[in-house]
Amino acid sequence: MTASMDIAQQVDLSALNTLGLPVIAAHYAEPTTIGELQQLLAEAHRQHWPVAVLGGGSNVIPAPYIEGLVIRYAGADTHLEVDGSSGLLHASAGADWPSLVATTAEAGWWGIENLALIPGSAGAAPVQNIGAYGVEIGELIERVVYVDREDSSVKTLSAAECGFGYRDSIFKHALSERAIIVEIVLRVSRNALPRLDYADLAQRVALPATPMAVADAVSAIRRDKLPDPQQLANAGSFFKNPTVPESLAAALSERYPDMPRYPAAGGVKLAAGWLIDRCGLKGFKRGHFGIHERQALVIVHVGGGSAQELGAFANTIAEQVEERFGVQLEQEPRFLGFPA
Ligand SMILES: Cc1cc2nc3c(=O)[nH]c(=O)nc-3n(C[C@H](O)[C@H](O)[C@H](O)COP(=O)(O)OP(=O)(O)OC[C@H]3O[C@@H](n4cnc5c(N)ncnc54)[C@H](O)[C@@H]3O)c2cc1C
Repeated sequence: MTASMDIAQQVDLSALNTLGLPVIAAHYAEPTTIGELQQLLAEAHRQHWPVAVLGGGSNVIPAPYIEGLVIRYAGADTHLEVDGSSGLLHASAGADWPSLVATTAEAGWWGIENLALIPGSAGAAPVQNIGAYGVEIGELIERVVYVDREDSSVKTLSAAECGFGYRDSIFKHALSERAIIVEIVLRVSRNALPRLDYADLAQRVALPATPMAVADAVSAIRRDKLPDPQQLANAGSFFKNPTVPESLAAALSERYPDMPRYPAAGGVKLAAGWLIDRCGLKGFKRGHFGIHERQALVIVHVGGGSAQELGAFANTIAEQVEERFGVQLEQEPRFLGFPA
């Protein structure tokens, strides 16, 4: 194959972002191997195309028109390396994350069951260190393999080198314009390790638990709480839970004794959904966007809106929270394909 043969032109990617925003990519390709990916990078270099990396599109705000080349790594092989009661689960970046969790849990392996039904690809999972129900993927990562866009070399990072934090990793910082993740390797175990710290999860799982029972319970809770992007376009939580200094948290707790607060590195973590809800914004609608009626952290798109309108809507929400609580909210979804 030659790389140019596999590059489509002027491609409508509107169906490939769960916010349902309109987007056209000037050039688009889905490599399935590292070799194909390297050929595409060489072609982008020759043509002076900027490169944007897309996974399942469940955490991006795309530009309406993306100049350059959008790459969606489609290699999706998975395999398990078994060593007694522990295993190393290898997943190519294009593997569908919810399916990977379901098949792993069904086979009786513990580790990733609390991360059931988080949409997207395996390759994007380390980017924001996906987390849910007391577990973050960074705890389970053994290594991440990526192609470095600077010289097309294949590199490997250990979990420590990935710099995982709350919804954060090196892939959002030093490697944000460099790494195209091609494989993740996760540690899983046959030994029962149920993580049932969340009361609503513990209530739904009969003991002794199985990984599949936990994954099923997590999926059921998520279906109850979160709108399905297939029915109502959204990107999950639109804002991160903010960490604020202890002094601000203490002052707020005095004014709002029922305010949820959690210990966190560098201060106190607050619940962004609670802050938005307390501004009376649950169910608030303007133009083509709104705050979901049951989940204040989720911005929904009813269709016909644009990335620009979404930005203005999100700013309105963040401004109201800042005015009332003095807390700045940070957006979770990542911009894709906007000029630097
Ligand atoms: C309904 C809903 C619920 C959600 N719930 C959760 C949740 O509970 N917890 C949570 O953490 N997240 C949640 N999310 C967010 C989202 O599912 C995750 O961030 C997911 O990992 C995104 O995967 P994706 O393949 O769709 O990535 P995309 O949205 O396509 O991309 C996200 C970012 O990763 C980059 N990227 C994608 N693939 C690669 C790659 N191979 N190499 C390098 N960079 C790459 C992109 O450039 C972009 O910056 C939710 C989203 C939705 C819509």
